[in-house]
Amino acid sequence: ARSRFIARHPRSAELHSQARTVMPGGNTRSVLYYQPFPIAMDKGEGSTLWDIDGNEFVDLCGEYTAGLFGHSESRIHAAVHQAMTQGLNLAAVGRAEYEFANLICARFPSMELVRFTNSGTEANLLALTAARVHTGRDMILAFPGGYHGGVLLFTPQGPSPVTVPFPFLLADYNDTDSATAVIEQNRDRLAAVIVEPMLGSGGCIPAEISFLKALREATREAGALLIFDEVMTSRMSDGGLQKRLGINPDLTTLGKYMAGGMSFGAFGGRADVMSLFEGRLSHAGTFNNNVLSMAAGRVALGEIFTKEVAEELYVRGERLRTALNDRLTRLGVAMHFSGVGSVATAHYRAPTIRRPYSPTAQEEDLRELFFLDMVQTGFYLARRGMFALSLPVLQSDLDRFVDAVENFASTRRGVLES
Ligand code: PMP
Repeated sequence: ARSRFIARHPRSAELHSQARTVMPGGNTRSVLYYQPFPIAMDKGEGSTLWDIDGNEFVDLCGEYTAGLFGHSESRIHAAVHQAMTQGLNLAAVGRAEYEFANLICARFPSMELVRFTNSGTEANLLALTAARVHTGRDMILAFPGGYHGGVLLFTPQGPSPVTVPFPFLLADYNDTDSATAVIEQNRDRLAAVIVEPMLGSGGCIPAEISFLKALREATREAGALLIFDEVMTSRMSDGGLQKRLGINPDLTTLGKYMAGGMSFGAFGGRADVMSLFEGRLSHAGTFNNNVLSMAAGRVALGEIFTKEVAEELYVRGERLRTALNDRLTRLGVAMHFSGVGSVATAHYRAPTIRRPYSPTAQEEDLRELFFLDMVQTGFYLARRGMFALSLPVLQSDLDRFVDAVENFASTRRGVLES
């Protein structure tokens, strides 16, 4: 499978070796660093991608959820073009910034006030800082497998991460007893609990509602803040996964698709916490309110990703995951997809997965084989086996994807059954 991959991507291979002479590993995004070399893309249109060797793919990676609108949404392009004609770097506030913020606060009842950043990572750093200043405490509870940004990751495997020097406590995801015990034991020092309502890069593992409710309750009692990292999950309804679950965190962080595919992050929540930024806490950043992100975001939320569209995408994703899992169950193989709505990850073991795990060597091999097989069949997804649907993706392509997954599983049945 690897040699077929190498044979089909000679230009990507060449670019990788050239890029390594000026960038360590040949790139600047660790998620795109994999063996034997990453595919270099040339262009995208709708939900189709073409690499620099001319191979065509159905884009199921969806830029790790940031590509929700696909590659050629005309209303986003028009908004960006319009913004460009009015000047890029105005060193000023503007109407689009206000209107985009207004849309976010209207959709997320827990977000009374909001601020923009350039990335989800920054949004989380700012939310954690706000929580620490607001409570006058320093500790943060996070969960292994959680990913909150380039410097805020709690993944057990892989190269050592660069992490921020905040004091973190850890408890197991979906383990209510251990989390509430840590919260209670540290009630004098705990500033915040930060949690993804579905572990995204940790394997698309949904939080159990009882777990999140217990975190809500325990943080309130301990006087600590509950932060939902909805960078990946905010697409699950017009008001995020929190709206679907009926739980209001104190602070929420956002990112990915929300500025129409332009660089974006935001954090917000309780007015008494967020008003720290009115004079007490500084949050600077040249590109926080860059006109492209603000203009695209206003259109993305105001006109395109409406409540109805969000619901449709969620349902499409649920149907796809059900279809995949039905086929895999019928085959009797130890493989399934976990996730919520339009985002899911393949696992090479039986359902249900409640917390992150270290894959066995065989699972690692299957992960690579699955990726190579899908790429070979014309489906581009994240190397770890995650897909994130975009709005323009065609149902006929999703039907073919289900067939391709079934074909993969049945040809590897011997390994998958053991
Ligand atoms: N939080 C979560 C849950 C994420 O999935 C990500 C990005 N994968 C981030 C934070 C960081 O966002 P960014 O890459 O924009 O810094």
